Amino acid sequence: MMALVSYIIGDCPSCGAPESYGNVTVGGNTLSRGCLECKHWDRIPLPELQKKVIYLDQFFFSHAFRGQHKMFVEAEKRITDLALAQQIVAPYSNLHEDESQLWTESQRAPLLKFIKQTSLGHKFSYEYEVKKHQIHRAFQSFLVSGPTRHAVERADALRRDVNEWDDYVWIDVGNFADKHDTLKMRKDRSIEDLLDLFDTWASMTSTFEEDVQSEVRSCAKSYIEHYVDYVKSIASGDPDAFFTANENSMMIESLLRYHDKLPAPLRMQRILAFFQSDYFANVPEVRIGSQFFALLRQRLRLGEYMNKEKNRNRFSGLFYDVRFISTYAPYCDAMVVDNLMFQWATDPLIDLPKRHGVRLFSRHNWNEFLTYLDELEADQRPEVDEALKMIRPVGARTPEWIRRGSAIRKRI
Ligand SMILES: [Zn+2]
Repeated sequence: MMALVSYIIGDCPSCGAPESYGNVTVGGNTLSRGCLECKHWDRIPLPELQKKVIYLDQFFFSHAFRGQHKMFVEAEKRITDLALAQQIVAPYSNLHEDESQLWTESQRAPLLKFIKQTSLGHKFSYEYEVKKHQIHRAFQSFLVSGPTRHAVERADALRRDVNEWDDYVWIDVGNFADKHDTLKMRKDRSIEDLLDLFDTWASMTSTFEEDVQSEVRSCAKSYIEHYVDYVKSIASGDPDAFFTANENSMMIESLLRYHDKLPAPLRMQRILAFFQSDYFANVPEVRIGSQFFALLRQRLRLGEYMNKEKNRNRFSGLFYDVRFISTYAPYCDAMVVDNLMFQWATDPLIDLPKRHGVRLFSRHNWNEFLTYLDELEADQRPEVDEALKMIRPVGARTPEWIRRGSAIRKRI
């Protein structure tokens, strides 16, 4: 059987067929070469990679996509080049999908397509999955009275090994269902609810640490409430209870499934004790999210953010921003965020760079970001460069089957 050769590099070394031998696929750490006419097959090992994982927020993508600001357009171009050079991977997340849904109908799909192209199809695990991994790891440590300090593993947020070589084609996992109206309504309502709290928060005398604790407790409380709602709807005989349940109600459900000799009511008590423990408070997503809202309270106490009209605009993306930072920061080498998130994440009270080793960039320190990209470009190892030349040989012909193309296969 002939191979689907992507780049023809010459005559077949086996059957001698002219102009029929070339690159077929790149996968893991191997470049495979084959022939359009015979079964000849070569596997060429590729050097190991050490890609940087970078999160580009919606603000970055929106500006690069609109093309109005040169700085974003140029940076996006450089990141795509670094991704193709196998030095960077900029996975997209379900938050990019949701935030793109908030755009006008005609722009939603093109924007998301643009984001996915920069990502070369790499995607972060769904945020609930990341939280679940973290909470279960903390719960297991709690069960054996292990360390309360939390260690993260990259596989929890990136199912696919980012240090594999990217193939010529990637499969688009498909577009989202239309959730525009629901997401828009939820976003508007939650921001109004938040702004309503500002006066109260500004007048409270609690400390930052107390506010963090209170945010952690309300996070635990919300898991419990969602679970109680779920149990109630099951008990009322609602046949759709399972399908309409909020995903967060499943967190407790999943913690109850730990099989041991404890009867169910005691297992529930054990979960409640876990929620009150440092094990839960140190879960990175819980901790970072709680710290961000505690910092907001702190800044309100200090008299910041007094302009109500400005606030509506300033905080319109806050919930999405806190969600992606608290979920994915521990797994990233760098994040590009807006100025407000940069200020908060680098505030000494939170200091994500120190805590999680993530570099943070925004317009505020754009020159540092450009230097970071310069350094990555300069760091390219010669053996990787050589391999790239083998993978995309200059002047190689692409055969007919590729030019026909297919709607779901994206050429990179
Ligand atoms: Zn051949």
